Amino acid sequence: MNEKMNDLQNLRKKIIEFNQAYEKGTPLIDDFVYDFYKKQLEILEQHETIKISDEIGSNIKTENKYEHEFSILSLNHSFENIDEFLKKLKNINPFPICAELKIDGVTIIAKYENGFLTKIATRGNGFFGQDITHLKNHLKLPNQIYIKEKIYLRAEAYFNKNIPNARNKAAGILLKNEIDANLSELKIAPHFLYSFNEIWSNYDELRNIFKTFGLQPINPYKLCFSQEEIEEYFTKIKNSRNELDFTIDGIVLKINDKKIQDELGNTAKAPKFAHAIKFSNQFNISKIRNIQFNVGKNGKITPVAEIEETLIDGRKIIKATLNNLKDLKEKEYGIDDIIKIEMAGDVIPKITEIIEKKNKLIEIPTKCPACLVPLENENCNQGWNCIEQKKQRLYYFAQNLEIENLGTKQIDFFIENGILNYPNDFFEIKNKANQIKKNAKWLGEKSLTNIIQNIEKAQHSSLENFYTSLGITNIGKNKAKILSSHFENIEIFLSLDMENFLFMGKEIAKNIFEFNQKEKDWIIKTYQYMKFNETYKEYSLF
Ligand SMILES: [Zn+2]
Repeated sequence: MNEKMNDLQNLRKKIIEFNQAYEKGTPLIDDFVYDFYKKQLEILEQHETIKISDEIGSNIKTENKYEHEFSILSLNHSFENIDEFLKKLKNINPFPICAELKIDGVTIIAKYENGFLTKIATRGNGFFGQDITHLKNHLKLPNQIYIKEKIYLRAEAYFNKNIPNARNKAAGILLKNEIDANLSELKIAPHFLYSFNEIWSNYDELRNIFKTFGLQPINPYKLCFSQEEIEEYFTKIKNSRNELDFTIDGIVLKINDKKIQDELGNTAKAPKFAHAIKFSNQFNISKIRNIQFNVGKNGKITPVAEIEETLIDGRKIIKATLNNLKDLKEKEYGIDDIIKIEMAGDVIPKITEIIEKKNKLIEIPTKCPACLVPLENENCNQGWNCIEQKKQRLYYFAQNLEIENLGTKQIDFFIENGILNYPNDFFEIKNKANQIKKNAKWLGEKSLTNIIQNIEKAQHSSLENFYTSLGITNIGKNKAKILSSHFENIEIFLSLDMENFLFMGKEIAKNIFEFNQKEKDWIIKTYQYMKFNETYKEYSLF
């Protein structure tokens, strides 16, 4: 059997196990991890004739399988972004828009004929659900309503938070064959009604119709007349969601007017008149594809995992850092491992947990991946002689001195052509403009002039930025500010002993002193170009 078939069979087995546990109301994994495995199965089954992923997604058992009379669409969603929905509606006035809570439960469809409840099914995958009509007398759905036409009520079945694992438990209990004692605790929140004739003309009115059925529509809700009102509602709900008795994962927006709803219609997958705004998650599940080793500006080797694309907080993530080599060694991360990724400080995604190990371990480097010199304490000690450290130091300098529009591509070119070696060389670029113009046709005269002007402008940057841009280990903007207030003259700063820096803490004092000893020469040269107190005047080069 080839590897792919093997993976496929293992994954199928695993998902069936997850489903069985889920159906029993004792899930083995959380929803995020389940969704990840399901997606993996879909990818593996892409070219297979038999696809179990079509079936399993919503835990549909063959027993009591129910085919919906029309497809029960899901909602499009975005993360904390209201614009996305409103932009699509720019040709009409969508207001008022009804904003409601998005309860994290199980969607069910209840069919009424001649005023009687005749069928209940779970939404499932929208085409097939599970027939749960046998629970009719145990669910809080009215058995009889006054509307005689055939209607389909769409609702969310959910438990309050006091039931552990509420959503999974709700699904488990609904899909069980026997009547579970907890069914009496299951709540029903109605959120739509399908009919063949006009029964309601706006959603606000439909909410009142639900009440006449004896059902409680989702609260608090708000009829919004502007984007600001939606934003206000969203923020309020987001900040107070912990006080609710049940779990929500966002809000749902529906255009109130049924006429506009009907005019807009649906795409193949979702209605165009409704949209969910979800709270952004700060983590997700993915898989390690490869691990690279990056060299930092001061020689630290950091493992960076290339991962299968995933979304965190609505952002596409394809890379995540692992702390350091020690961590990699201890936790034995490897290729194909399934991992949890979290945002660290909202900027860098970080791997925080291994969900499943595949034991395809990565060889830990003993040499610097850039300059190939053996590592010392997991660091490359080659400083400016290591090409990668040189690049990182120059990128860091340009970025922190705020030289605008000077990216890594241009810096790499200047390094490769011997124009840039140390930060002071930035300020000589203008004297080499003709040479650069000859060698770098792609750069263009305008861009080059722009770069030179921006470098000139950066000479007028602040002392604080200058201290930051030096790249002393662990001296970021805040500590650089302290340095700039204590040491106005860089030449004096460079000549001081370690004792003079002790007020910053022992470790930092040592960092600064050692850095100064090593880097003195280029710092003095660079300092000569700085014009901290003069204002910048624009000029033309060519
Ligand atoms: Zn190196």
